[in-house]
Order: sequence, then structure tokens, then C-alpha cells
Amino acid sequence: MIVALLAFSVAAGVVVSVSLPADRTLFSVPLRGSASHLLAEIEDRYGARVQEAWVDTLTPSNRLAEADVLADGSPIIRVVRSFSKQTPASLEETLVHELFHLRLIADGFPALDLSIDYGSVVPDAHMRRVNEQVTRTIQVSLWDPILHFIFYPEMRGMGFDPSFVNTEEFLTRRRKNDLSGLETHTDQLQYYYNAALEFGDRAEAALLSQWYKERGWAASAEEGAAIARLVTSAHPTSPHDAVEVLARVVERVNTGKVNCDPARWQQVRRGRMPIQVAHITMRIRP
Ligand SMILES: [Zn+2]
Repeated sequence: MIVALLAFSVAAGVVVSVSLPADRTLFSVPLRGSASHLLAEIEDRYGARVQEAWVDTLTPSNRLAEADVLADGSPIIRVVRSFSKQTPASLEETLVHELFHLRLIADGFPALDLSIDYGSVVPDAHMRRVNEQVTRTIQVSLWDPILHFIFYPEMRGMGFDPSFVNTEEFLTRRRKNDLSGLETHTDQLQYYYNAALEFGDRAEAALLSQWYKERGWAASAEEGAAIARLVTSAHPTSPHDAVEVLARVVERVNTGKVNCDPARWQQVRRGRMPIQVAHITMRIRP
């Protein structure tokens, strides 16, 4: 077997060399050089192979894949079964995307534990359901774009196009004039914020702006762009900076209605892997 020698930096800044097979595959997809190196780095840092799982669905249901860490500390990527119909190239891109998420976890980027404090009001079943929705939206629509903003430039440098899925979704939406999920000003500005952080400098960014103008949503576009600028101007690279800017984003999206307490950090262990959790409490202003 051909063995390549590779050097890279681990978190402590120590340069190590490891031997790895040059022809690694993941989900039966042969990984090109830079992706194969990333996989080797992840497996070295976790001290375990990346496990592969095909699943029927993920939450939220429009997710195609996710990265996670099992109780024993093993990294795992789950991919929805329907993805297997897609081309190997786009599956490779998705796998690389998830490998970057695994790297961020190893770098100390936290799992979020979000809760809402209503003060003296005791939340009823309806409020608890709203809570769940709000925290899921923050995770998917506000937090993930910050993480993507952090690693997409490097992914582009590896020859991948991480914006492809999102820009395709937008182009389909535009073609069908599909406005689902964009009913409110908040929905519209969150969608715009996501695009501003994830589209990079692709032509679709200008198309989106034009589309918003045609719909009479210029105010949502402006506000979404302003919120994205909170992230681009802070340019977070550390876990703490990323969580700090998320808090400002959450407050700005809910202008005047919510205050985020400073996050409480907790380290939990999964096997030998330390995993960070950031507990964030959002206080509803009276
Ligand atoms: Zn992602």
C-alpha cells in the first residue's frame, strides 16, 4: 500500500507527522488529497476513525448530513440515505464540510444549550414549544452561518464550492417564486443574513439583493446585511469570539426584546475528548 507522510499542527501548536494510506475513502467516496489530509488530521486529533452512518432522516428535516461525537469520543458523520443518489463530487463536498465541523468541535467550538428566561412568568406548553422552535432557529439560521463563515474560505482554498447547495436552493426558489418560510420580516432578514455569510462573492448574492427589492423587502435585506456585518467585522476565529458575536446577532434579530447573558461554559467528556458546551440564557425584556 502506498503510504504518504504528512505534517500538520495540532491544537497545542506541536507539529506531528503521521503515516496514512493515500487512498482513503469515506462513504465509499475517494477523497482527493487535501480532503484526505483533513480526514487524517481529524482522526489523529480524536484518536479514532471517523464513523460513517446512513440514516433515514435528520433534524431539522432539510439537513443532508451532520457531524457528531459519540459517547466514547469517536467522531461520526451521518448522511441521509437519499443523498446516495447524488453525484460523488457533491457527497465529497458535504463530507469535507462535516469534517470541518468536527475540526471546530475539536478546537473547542461549543455545542449550544439555549434557554429562555421569561422572568416571573412560568412558561406553559405553548411557550415551551416556541422555545424549542426559537432555539432550533438560532442553531440553524444564526449559529451555523457563523461557523460556515469561519471555515468556508479554507474549504474554497481546497478547491470546493461550499456555497453551491445554498445558492442552488435560492435559484430554485427564485425560479418557482417560492416564498415559503419567508413570511415575516424576521424570516426574511435571517435568510438574507445567512446568504450574506455563506454565498461568498458569488453572483447569486447580487441576484438575491435584486430579488428582495422586487418583493418590496429592501428593509429586510438591509437589516440582514447589517446583522451579517456584525459577524464579518468581528471576524471571529476563537470559540469565545464566535459565541460572543452570536449573542449580539440574537439580540439584534430580536431588537429590543431579548438580552443574552454572558455564556456559561462547561466542559464535558466523551471518552477522551473534551467537548465544550456554551449555556446561553436569553432574557425576555419586560
Ligand atoms: Zn454546516
